[in-house]
Amino acid sequence: MTKISWDDKQPFVNEDCIWCSACVAICPDVFDLNDEWKAFAKELGEYDENDVNDAISACPVVAISWKENFLAK
Ligand code: SF4
Repeated sequence: MTKISWDDKQPFVNEDCIWCSACVAICPDVFDLNDEWKAFAKELGEYDENDVNDAISACPVVAISWKENFLAK
């Protein structure tokens, strides 16, 4: 289990999300749904890389990606 620090990169959900909730089912610690019909990634101190990668793979519209945190470097 590899932990990714928020300072390095964070999961990001783009506008293509279709609110299918697959990412929430796979990785509920990280992903949640908002009232604007989109999923979002919670701001956490660290992320389980494998869990997030599983959610990325499961997203039917490829709306999730890792975003490098250039500001913290
Ligand atoms: S799996 Fe993709 S489309 Fe489905 S809720 Fe998550 S981000 Fe949105």
